[in-house]
Amino acid sequence: MSKLKIAVQKSGRLSEKSLALLADCGIKISNGDRKLKATAENFPVEVLFLRDDDIPQYVEQGVADLGILGENEVWEKGKDVTQLEKHGFASCKLVLAIPKDEVYSGLTWFRDKKIATSYPSILRNFFKSHQIEVQIEEIGGSVEIATGIGLADAIFDIVSTGSTLMLNGLKEAEVVTRSEAILIANPNLNAEKIKTVERLLFRIKAVRNASANKYILLNAPDTAIAGICQILPGMKSPTILPLATPGWSSLHSVIREDEFWDIIDQLKDHGAEGILVVPIEKMIV
Ligand code: ATP
Ligand code: MG
Repeated sequence: MSKLKIAVQKSGRLSEKSLALLADCGIKISNGDRKLKATAENFPVEVLFLRDDDIPQYVEQGVADLGILGENEVWEKGKDVTQLEKHGFASCKLVLAIPKDEVYSGLTWFRDKKIATSYPSILRNFFKSHQIEVQIEEIGGSVEIATGIGLADAIFDIVSTGSTLMLNGLKEAEVVTRSEAILIANPNLNAEKIKTVERLLFRIKAVRNASANKYILLNAPDTAIAGICQILPGMKSPTILPLATPGWSSLHSVIREDEFWDIIDQLKDHGAEGILVVPIEKMIV
């Protein structure tokens, strides 16, 4: 069976979480000595460790079948790859920032201005769609210092907390787009590899469902069960088990993480006691 080759970032913001995602899917890789390649023990997968900039090209050419990287790199490189699943980590925004003392009047502020960036293609497309002429100064890194040293009037860069902008006397003017880590695939995989990708996607979804949900256990008087069942739909419906104390039951169900606090309050109002909320490791729906 030919192995599926997955490209992940060698070292940087994506590396650890990319390997953790594979590990959560039961794919164990050891890269202790930072080799270029590592083979999984228990899944037909080989992991290639690369710079994130190179991943779109390698996936387009089929050197790697899949890649995990930031959407920003996928958009910037514009290679022919299939975008499969977003992962929810390495979230950031791509922003236009200007010196903090400037009065920002809207996008036309940038007309004929010089903007430094490592993402010239995304930036060019953005201003083209707004029909505003700008000068783009492409630089490899440390974009945030470009205005301070007189290289540019503004910058276009990745921001997660905004503290780097502040430290460099800049302020956010426009959020151009938001990005997170994504799984990409070569568009011409053979049937055998597509099958392995589907197995992997099945596992990724089970991991994601698990982290988006919690398992809840609670005790309630039997008279409150009907009301509580209305609040706790569960995967099918809640499990109800009798307690040793007559007239009382234990209810088990699954709730969404983002509804958690609302539901807890409602449950208490309905007479629920001894509420336990525990993480779910995998969830197959
Ligand atoms: P490489 O050596 O692999 O080219 P890099 O320096 O280009 O690494 P990192 O700084 O490790 O890349 O960032 C990788 C990705 O993490 C970015 O492309 C982006 O999608 C995401 N990211 C999230 N938050 C930030 C941030 N604050 N700054 C930079 N990237 C971020
Ligand atoms: Mg890079």
